[in-house]
Amino acid sequence: MQCGAAVRLWDPSRVPKHKVCGEFLTPEIRPVLERLQLWDAFLDQQPARMERMRLVFGHRSANGRFAEPAYGLSRYRLDALLRGEAEARGAQIIAERVPGIVDITAHGRQFAAAGKDRLFGFKAHFQGPVSDAVELYFFNGFYIGVNPVEGGLTNVCGIGPEEGLRRHGFDYDALVHSNVPLRERLNPLQREMNWLSTGPLLYQTRLPAPPMDTFLAGDALQFVDPFTGTGMAIAIWSGSLAGKAAAEGLPTAEYYTQIRSGVEKQYGWCGRLRSALSMRFTQNLAPYIPPSWLYALTRPQIESR
Ligand SMILES: Cc1cc2nc3c(=O)[nH]c(=O)nc-3n(C[C@H](O)[C@H](O)[C@H](O)COP(=O)(O)OP(=O)(O)OC[C@H]3O[C@@H](n4cnc5c(N)ncnc54)[C@H](O)[C@@H]3O)c2cc1C
Repeated sequence: MQCGAAVRLWDPSRVPKHKVCGEFLTPEIRPVLERLQLWDAFLDQQPARMERMRLVFGHRSANGRFAEPAYGLSRYRLDALLRGEAEARGAQIIAERVPGIVDITAHGRQFAAAGKDRLFGFKAHFQGPVSDAVELYFFNGFYIGVNPVEGGLTNVCGIGPEEGLRRHGFDYDALVHSNVPLRERLNPLQREMNWLSTGPLLYQTRLPAPPMDTFLAGDALQFVDPFTGTGMAIAIWSGSLAGKAAAEGLPTAEYYTQIRSGVEKQYGWCGRLRSALSMRFTQNLAPYIPPSWLYALTRPQIESR
């Protein structure tokens, strides 16, 4: 639209709706939204602001500070904002897919049908005292994030192996209460919605080769580890680059080169850290690794593009 092209938007599901997501946005979100002139509208949603991070491994924890603030905004609010702005700027929401006109494919993550390492994600909002930190609790192959979002709510969102969930009868309350530090953290909070879950999902070990006949954007292109808190920023960034490329008639190969230079390094580091953390030796070392170091390694290079 900003490049003068007509935009038609097709999504078969209801938007907005509550989605399984950590709803945590690292500071990269600011330049991405500023370039789209969406920053003020984002702030109007009164996202929670976070200055600190805390990683909890058993009874040990490590703390770090963000150089710039991170934000918490529910997917309900963020998706409504993006859809509303697209419409206000002239995008036409269509009820039926029109074959042959799709330039950009952003259908989200493709579920892996099978596999022994399947993971599931889950989330719920809680009411109660609000913190200014994002906290991640690691235990038994799970990590569970606790962070504020708008309106004094706290989002609790985790990801973990199917086998571990089965041990708790897929009862997410039982799961979060099985870890003592997390149970103590959630003690003063009350869950205010039913748990939502998603999956199965699998981490990819390398960036998949994209099809050259369409501009893939967001999770349709690659599923970045939610640990990085950058999936939404990358989805908005890649979606806007894809829109510009399609409007200007850029070859898809050139678009994918831009994407790779933004996320390839991050992707590589996430894979290496994941395999390291699956080894017992590194699990024992993990509490001693400064969170700011892990954070710095897993940044995408999307700010100046
Ligand atoms: C457990 C978990 C926690 C996460 N936590 C965070 C976090 O804290 N911070 C962060 O930044 N990211 C996080 N992420 C990642 C983040 O949710 C995704 O990266 C982001 O939603 C990607 O946006 P998207 O638009 O590509 O896909 P989606 O948000 O999945 O949206 C895809 C849309 O496409 C629609 N669609 C599906 N099929 C079709 C079709 N055939 N045609 C047309 N439309 C279709 C769907 O209805 C949907 O509305 C998390 C992910 C998980 C699983």
